[in-house]
Amino acid sequence: MERLLEGAFAVVTGASKGIGKGIAKTFLNHGATVIITGRTEKDLQNTVKELSNFGAISYIVADISKAADIKNMVDTAIERHGKIDILCSNAGIFPMSLIENMSEEEWDYINTVNVKGMFLAVKECIPYMKKQGGGNIVITSSITGPVTGYTGWSHYGATKAAQLGFMRSAAIELARYGIRINAVQPGNIETEGLLSMGEEYYNTMKKSIPLGFLGKPEDIGNAMVFLASDLAKFITGQTIVVDGGQILPESSDAMEVPIEK
Ligand code: NAP
Repeated sequence: MERLLEGAFAVVTGASKGIGKGIAKTFLNHGATVIITGRTEKDLQNTVKELSNFGAISYIVADISKAADIKNMVDTAIERHGKIDILCSNAGIFPMSLIENMSEEEWDYINTVNVKGMFLAVKECIPYMKKQGGGNIVITSSITGPVTGYTGWSHYGATKAAQLGFMRSAAIELARYGIRINAVQPGNIETEGLLSMGEEYYNTMKKSIPLGFLGKPEDIGNAMVFLASDLAKFITGQTIVVDGGQILPESSDAMEVPIEK
């Protein structure tokens, strides 16, 4: 297998579990040196232990909802490796809440984690990426918000669409420094977070995916590797939907065979 990120230094936020962990593993398999972040040190330690078979990996404890933690995350990564070639802004939460019950605090918190955390991480990396003559930023957005909707996820969908709005202007603004920024829009991916939503949710989602199975975190990792590699050197401000075809059916009947033989 060709290693597409050989020699690159990457930071992946929210990577002790789930999609972030899968991205970290895929980056390692492609030759990158990886720093993973999250809030729970024990989980980070376990993940570093598990993934160290695949390459050079370390962790930084950082809560993406806190500006001081984000600054410390980027400064520490620079102290450790001298540069950040790839920032993967992945940390995100997806609690459910009906609009009529949703508090201002709930709205603010999800926006702080999913949108402001991404913005501050990108902002902190820019001076270093400018100095090193370029860099790559990849964002974990979602199909929920930019393309689809789901009862209880109006606030979540708003944050995932906001990430793409941010990305498009950032792509133009940062292109002059050789910094590319792109996003992946996952459909339903088997992560700890998704599995915690229960068996009924899992089975309903499986039925709505034309390919007939949920994705794995590494499926998102593969799209991220492509976007962060030189194979995508002429691509910025774009998204890749990785969802097994989930956004395609016009109705639940669209996957049935309507014509009798
Ligand atoms: P997950 O299984 O719940 O894992 C979330 C990771 O983020 C953990 O490592 C968690 O560690 C970390 N995290 C949570 N809050 C954080 C904070 N404030 N600061 C730093 N790290 C934090 O979630 P996931 O399913 O992998 O989702 C990851 C991303 O993919 C999110 O942006 C989500 O919107 C997106 N996504 C997921 C799916 C899906 O099907 N799973 C679909 C579309 C998009 P700590 O709790 O220890 O901090």
